[in-house]
Amino acid sequence: MDERISAVLLAGGRGSRMGEADKGLQLLRGRPLIEHVLERLRPQCAQISISANRNGDRYAAYGHPVLPDRLPGFAGPLAGLERALSAARTPLLLVVPCDLPFLPADLAARLLAALEAEQADLAVAVTEDDGQLRLHPTCSLLKTALAPQLQAYLAGGGRKMRGWWPGLKVAEVRFPDAAAFRNMNSRADLHTFAMPSLSQATATLPSYDPDAMSVPAAQRVIQAMLNPVPEVEALPLAQALGRVLAQDLMSPIDVPAHDNSAMDGYALRGADLPASGSASLRVSGTAYAGQPYTGSVAAGACVRIMTGAVMPDGCDTVIPFELVSAADAAAITITAGSVRPGANRRFAGEDLRAGRPALHAGRVLRPADLGLIASLGIASVSVRRRLKVAVFSTGDELRAAGEPLGPGAIYDSNRSSVCAMLARLGCEVRDLGIVRDDPDALEAALRAASADADAIITSGGVSSGDADHTRAVLARLGEVAFWKLAMRPGRPLAFGRIGARAMLFGLPGNPVATMISFYFFVREALLTMMGASLPLPLLRVRSQGPIRKRPGRTEYQRGIVELGGDGRQHVRLTGNQGSGILRSMVEANCIVVLPAEQGDLAAGDEVDILLFDGLV
Ligand code: AMP
Ligand code: MG
Repeated sequence: MDERISAVLLAGGRGSRMGEADKGLQLLRGRPLIEHVLERLRPQCAQISISANRNGDRYAAYGHPVLPDRLPGFAGPLAGLERALSAARTPLLLVVPCDLPFLPADLAARLLAALEAEQADLAVAVTEDDGQLRLHPTCSLLKTALAPQLQAYLAGGGRKMRGWWPGLKVAEVRFPDAAAFRNMNSRADLHTFAMPSLSQATATLPSYDPDAMSVPAAQRVIQAMLNPVPEVEALPLAQALGRVLAQDLMSPIDVPAHDNSAMDGYALRGADLPASGSASLRVSGTAYAGQPYTGSVAAGACVRIMTGAVMPDGCDTVIPFELVSAADAAAITITAGSVRPGANRRFAGEDLRAGRPALHAGRVLRPADLGLIASLGIASVSVRRRLKVAVFSTGDELRAAGEPLGPGAIYDSNRSSVCAMLARLGCEVRDLGIVRDDPDALEAALRAASADADAIITSGGVSSGDADHTRAVLARLGEVAFWKLAMRPGRPLAFGRIGARAMLFGLPGNPVATMISFYFFVREALLTMMGASLPLPLLRVRSQGPIRKRPGRTEYQRGIVELGGDGRQHVRLTGNQGSGILRSMVEANCIVVLPAEQGDLAAGDEVDILLFDGLV
């Protein structure tokens, strides 16, 4: 995020093509369009304002300033831009319309890079649709110093988005993903994108081979096909840990509610501090936390004050006990320079402001969040319902723990690890046991699972040997987006939809591959369905030894990260990296992620790791 960039979200149009409806508030996948855009914009800039000419209260509820046009009569996007340009306090302004719900995450970064490289006044996004270059003037980054030029153009009656560009230096920035700039113009568009189909999900890929998907392409297809569950429930705080906040949580009060002291000491008037030498102040009372001093403090007086106590009327500064040069019950002596005027005073609303969002929708509630919600006096929260996930293992060789192990049989370990990973994510798990390698049994299990599950997670039966009968069954029951990924371990991985809404993740059978595929594909997908966004926290550390790596596929190796003699963290691989060796997962405390293009690494090279500790 760049502190020099603020953004304006243009939502001030008349909405003619939506029957005069306020576009930003129309629902896509159960949420107002503006929420989709805000979610993508927030990580990209320091401040956001919303240009809107109707429903000011509803827009204001998102916690950003709402700016109506100064020009009358829905004068178009330039009118919104003019208002935002003149209000902006950063040198750069990012302009984005409210109807681009799939905006790229690197919009600001790429526009900024081009603006700087070309020393331009304005950088604008360009995409290629069917060989035609398309400029997106409402997706641009510009210098706020351009306000007078825009105002002059508007004063002359100009209203065209690009009409005021002649004379500006404009950088055109190509974005490879045209679909990210898809705008929602009509109700039909909202409907089309309501439930993404497989063909929509794959349409934007540069190339689509369901038998050899790259990891990033697979992750994109998965994300494109998912919708958050719409149902919401209210829960008491004590039951909300790990649940996903369904709406922005507005602060009903200022926290702290009053200006108060940050130290134990004496509250005084900054004007009474001596400029030189020392001064004596009369002690006129005491203020405790929860027991304010009710009088007004006159010039030349002070009040003994405890941390957290309300600042007495007239005081703006607190001098800590230890900085006072002399004190008795009646008076204190202060030396010049011992404290600045205004020091050690906490301001009302400094932590949270009334009417502003204290937490945003999509937040997975952690202990600190629950504390913060409680600090607002709120006793219950609105969260999305839990995901229902059905799980089964496939394989004639599998036995459940506790059963006798016949010749050639092995115990089913995947169900245990998958159910446990689901429990960590807060899902409601339905364990359907072990299913034989038989098309009819598989079909029956999938039908049963899809009846009320949001997602189905299977393991085994998707590698080349079994894939054919699995493919035939899946084709009968739903659609499958891909089968194989360019990754190791875990090459076979089926993803699709069974019936109308159950998302299917057919994970590979090898126990390490099952877990790795879960962490890197299923986890994020389920979080999206839960209405949450919690990207995997990768860290960068040095590799202790060399690592062999073949370019062309993403590899996930089990590692142990530990503090080296040099005081830094280093990672080394656990011994056997075979995908059936579950012990390697138990011994490891992290996964080393090596992207597809990566080749061999030397000792000391940096790698990305995913720590197991704290992983939800
Ligand atoms: P598959 O993908 O069915 O070909 O399985 C690949 C390997 O993983 C085989 O060696 C299976 O025996 C093993 N495997 C499959 N499912 C499980 C399971 N649930 N628990 C432990 N091992 C499994
Ligand atoms: Mg099998």
